Amino acid sequence: MNMQSPTLDKGAADAPFYMPQGSECELFEAAYETNMPLLLKGPTGCGKTRFVSHMAARLGRPLYTVACHDDLSAADLIGRYLLKGGDTVWADGPLTRAVREGAICYLDEVVEARKDVTVVLHPLTDDRRILPIDRTGETLEAAPGFMLVASYNPGYQNILKTLKPSTRQRFLSATFDFPPMDQEVAIVAQESGLESDRCQNLVRLAGKFRALKGQDIEEGVSTRLVIYTATLIAKGMPLEQAIHAAMIEPLSDDEDVQQGLNDIVTAVF
Ligand code: ADP
Repeated sequence: MNMQSPTLDKGAADAPFYMPQGSECELFEAAYETNMPLLLKGPTGCGKTRFVSHMAARLGRPLYTVACHDDLSAADLIGRYLLKGGDTVWADGPLTRAVREGAICYLDEVVEARKDVTVVLHPLTDDRRILPIDRTGETLEAAPGFMLVASYNPGYQNILKTLKPSTRQRFLSATFDFPPMDQEVAIVAQESGLESDRCQNLVRLAGKFRALKGQDIEEGVSTRLVIYTATLIAKGMPLEQAIHAAMIEPLSDDEDVQQGLNDIVTAVF
């Protein structure tokens, strides 16, 4: 981390809590300073979104986050003409706003979006840093401070939903995973308010569930779900009930699988 630069530390005190797992903060800063886009790969709920909001606050940049879905089109990102009291007015989408303001634009689960989105991203991710807006005839040059960050989950085994090499190779990339046990315990304790030693058993349980990924369950339990469980327990919910609602039901609909997970709970506690 570069403590010398005043811009980098602006807003640091108010930045949302984020515990680094490696040198991802330094990588983000380097990408920001050199105008390079960044791609974050990793399972759901492992801290990617929190990381981006933490870094945006540290860098003192506004942040536009877009949760991509299969119906999200380029127009949703760029903007569209809207009818307002009989007039047609142009309304910028989140990407255009970020480009104009020099903000950070975070496209969460970018592979979910429609194909026309990648076409828009290409001229923004090379050294031209431009956003052509066909509808208005404008070509915007990204304001200083603009940064594009995208994430995707390579774990979803959907061959149709992966990034094309021509798109991937425009981004610096970093892989995220669930934090090592001690760190995850500290994160869960901090976020939920539950004592560390009680969080420790929940994180141990999460580790056992994650080992089943690809066999009985599609995705391992996320840090987010461990935090939910700990939050419910801290609020006074009995342990088994909290684990069932936040760590078992969200993982599987299958009764046999749920029973298998319950057996692991009994073995851990
Ligand atoms: P993702 O974007 O990868 O799906 P999130 O960033 O939403 O996941 O993470 C889920 C929650 O887990 C966050 O709201 C935060 O409470 C917690 N979390 C995960 N990793 C960290 C970390 N390294 N530092 C702080 N909080 C974390």
